[in-house]
Amino acid sequence: MHCGMCLPTCPTYDATKLERNSPRGRIALMRAIADDRLKPTEAFADEMYFCLGCLACMTACPAGVNYAELFEHARAEAEQSGVLDSPKRSLIRTLTLRWLFMDLNRLQLVGRALRLYQQLGLQTFVRRSGILRLLPKRLRELEAMTPTVQPKFSAELIAPVTSAAGAKRYRVALLTGCAQDLIFSDVNRDTAEVLARNGCEVITPPEQLCCGSLHAHNGEWELAQQLARKQIDQFRPDEFDAIITNAAGCGSHLKHYAKLLEGDPVYEKRAHAWDAKVKDIHEWLAEVGIAKPANAPAQTVTYHEACHLCHGQKITAQPRTLLRAIPNLKLVELPESTWCCGSAGIYNLIQPEMAGDLLERKVRHIESTGAEVVATGNPGCLLQIMNGLRQQKRPVRVVHPITLLAEAYRSS
Ligand code: SF4
Ligand code: SF4
Repeated sequence: MHCGMCLPTCPTYDATKLERNSPRGRIALMRAIADDRLKPTEAFADEMYFCLGCLACMTACPAGVNYAELFEHARAEAEQSGVLDSPKRSLIRTLTLRWLFMDLNRLQLVGRALRLYQQLGLQTFVRRSGILRLLPKRLRELEAMTPTVQPKFSAELIAPVTSAAGAKRYRVALLTGCAQDLIFSDVNRDTAEVLARNGCEVITPPEQLCCGSLHAHNGEWELAQQLARKQIDQFRPDEFDAIITNAAGCGSHLKHYAKLLEGDPVYEKRAHAWDAKVKDIHEWLAEVGIAKPANAPAQTVTYHEACHLCHGQKITAQPRTLLRAIPNLKLVELPESTWCCGSAGIYNLIQPEMAGDLLERKVRHIESTGAEVVATGNPGCLLQIMNGLRQQKRPVRVVHPITLLAEAYRSS
C-alpha cells in the first residue's frame, strides 16, 4: 500500500512537504536498498537520521506497517555501509555508544564530575564570564542544554528492597535507566514510593545497565543485543510480577527484546518471557488500580504524550487516569499532545534546527492551555520541554506524572 495516510502525521514531512522526508518516501528508499536497486548513500543515511523515529506514522498506518523495525534496520544499514564515517563522528560514537553507555560506572563517573562542576558554581561562573562567546555557535547551544545532575543517584535514594506499604500484592523490579539515573533519580525514587503505596515490593538493584535503546536507534544492533542479554540475566522474568520502567523511550525498546534476540538459541525464549513482564509505570498502575490520595494542592496540569509512550506503546489513557486520580488536579488537554517535542533520543543534538522548530511549536501549545504544570513520561521530553520553557522565560513546571502522584501521597 502507498496510501499516504501517514503523511499528515509526520513532523518532517509537515515541515518540508517533500516526499523523501515522509514515511512513505523513506520506506521506498529502504525498499530500493533491500531490492538492490540502490546502494546505501550519504543521502540515504542523512534521510534516516532526519527521521525523528517518533513513530507517529505507525499509529496512522491502516496496513500495520512496522516502521519502528524498518527504521532501526535502516539506520544499522547506514552505519554498516560507512557512508557517514569521519574521524570525528567515529570518535564521538566510540566514546558514547561503545564506551560510556556500555558501563554505567563510567557514565556515573562523568555525572559526578559534571555535578561537582555545577555544585561548585563553576558552570554559573563560566556562563556569566562571557567565555562561552568564544565558542562556536553550535557548542554554545549544546552547553545551554546541559542538564543539571541530581545531588544523589538512584542507588543512594532507593533501597535495594522497598517493602510494600500495607499488604504485599506484587513483587516488581524497577529499572533505573542510564541518563535517567543521573538527571531524574528523583523520578525513580518517586516511582519506587508510588509502587510501594500500591502494594508492590520493589526490587531495585544498585548496579544497573542501559537498556540499549540508544544503541538500537543509532545503528548499533550488536551492542543493543549484548545489553539485552545482560538485562535478562540480571532481572529473571520468572522472579517478578512486572519489570517496571518509567521512561517511555526505554519501555518502547525493552518490550521488544524477543525481536532483537530472534534466533538466539539461549536468549530468544527468555526474551519472550521478559517482553511479557515489562510494563510502563502508568500501564502497570492502571492494571493494578491506583490508591487514591486523600489530598493534594490545587493545580492546573496539561499532559504531553511522549512519542514512545503513545505511538510506540499505545499508552494514552493510563497517564490521564493517573493524573485524574490526584485530588484538586485540573487536567487541561494539550493541543497536538501526540506531536513530537523534538527531543527524540539525541535528535535535538544532531538535528538542532528541526528539533528547535518542534520545541517552539510545543511551547506555544503549552502556553495556550494556561497550565502551570506540564506532565510527561519520558526523560528526553522532560529535558527538552524544560529547556524550551526556560528559553522563553515561562514559569511552567515540567514533571513526570509519577512525581505528582508521589507528592499527593506525601501531602496526604
Ligand atoms: S518516525 Fe516520525 S519523523 Fe520518522 S517517518 Fe515516521 S512520522 Fe515521520
Ligand atoms: S506506511 Fe502505512 S500509512 Fe504510510 S503509505 Fe505505507 S501503508 Fe500508507
